[in-house]
Amino acid sequence: MRAIVTRPGAARAWLADIPEPTLAAPDEALIQILRVGVCGTDREVMAHGVGGSRGLPPGDDYLVVGHEAVGQVLRVGDGVRSLRVGGLVVPTVRRGCGACPACAADQADLCFTGNVCERGIVGLHGFLAERIVDREPNLIHVPAELRAVAPLVESLTTPEKALRRIGNARAHLPTSGPLGGVGRALVTGSGPIALLAVMALRLRGIATWQLARQPADGPAATLARQVGATYVPLAEVDMDQPRAALGRFDAIVEATGAVEVAVPMIGALAPNGVLDLVGGSSERKAVPINASALGSMVGFNLTVQGSVNANRDDWQAAVRDLTAIRQAFGGAVESLITHTFGLEDVAVAFTRVPGQVKAVIDVAAA
Ligand code: BGC
Repeated sequence: MRAIVTRPGAARAWLADIPEPTLAAPDEALIQILRVGVCGTDREVMAHGVGGSRGLPPGDDYLVVGHEAVGQVLRVGDGVRSLRVGGLVVPTVRRGCGACPACAADQADLCFTGNVCERGIVGLHGFLAERIVDREPNLIHVPAELRAVAPLVESLTTPEKALRRIGNARAHLPTSGPLGGVGRALVTGSGPIALLAVMALRLRGIATWQLARQPADGPAATLARQVGATYVPLAEVDMDQPRAALGRFDAIVEATGAVEVAVPMIGALAPNGVLDLVGGSSERKAVPINASALGSMVGFNLTVQGSVNANRDDWQAAVRDLTAIRQAFGGAVESLITHTFGLEDVAVAFTRVPGQVKAVIDVAAA
């Protein structure tokens, strides 16, 4: 069957003919892949490999890429109870290390050892293939109405986990309302994760601001307005005193991964505020940090935390919320998918072009 593969360091992907996957255990299902989203991590895997020597699945000299998929169940093993042939599923990404309490408790997103595998990223083949096999616990049912936009479920799991953890960090406060009484929230960035975070916050009725590099008349600003959020271009904010232009926020989701944006955001937190970093970077770069920011962290009980990956509850929340966001905000979700390719477009599908939010590869149409 056809698949899109790479080799860490190759800096590109290509179409290959690889063996068909087969059911090997009673709790497995064979899935026909329909659509797969492309993300920055795919480009990182091609350029650098994310897991070093653990990047390639044992015995293979290539990695099938892609980790944002939706597919249709073709066949199920005897032990599968919750999936039916013909139903739609999104496969989760991370598989546990097998050696730590978090992975033993089915919380590989909280792995203590870091020796996880991630499908299409490190150690296991991904989803840009005509068919895949996975275990029932790694397959999340999605309603048929989400078929076209379901590659976005994986992107939404990141803000879902961030919002859950912000709520947890604020759970002890004597405040009421969503996420432990978040009245004002800010999202930094304008990629799919940032845009979905804005939508997830607006879905919860939270007054939301978005800060990013795009100008005030760019597509992110238009989308922010469409969902009732306020867009502020980065150029209008003095990053030494972000509060002057933006005010203070009970919660900030940092999705640029740019240290020069992330660090100053401590200064935009309200008392008891939480800054959750979801945009990671491997870049080595130093930025000055204002000592008074550390003073405020102590003086006002601020929390700075990071979130990676997501657990099964976050995946289920993402499916529920994507359905609700589509109903609440018209075509906002659909407008995130700006480019659609076929498997044979492999040479161009991973190239970022201006105006691109999310590119999707339509595997079934090829
Ligand atoms: C994926 C996560 C993954 C992370 C680190 C992200 O692009 O969405 O599932 O855990 O990369 O590899």
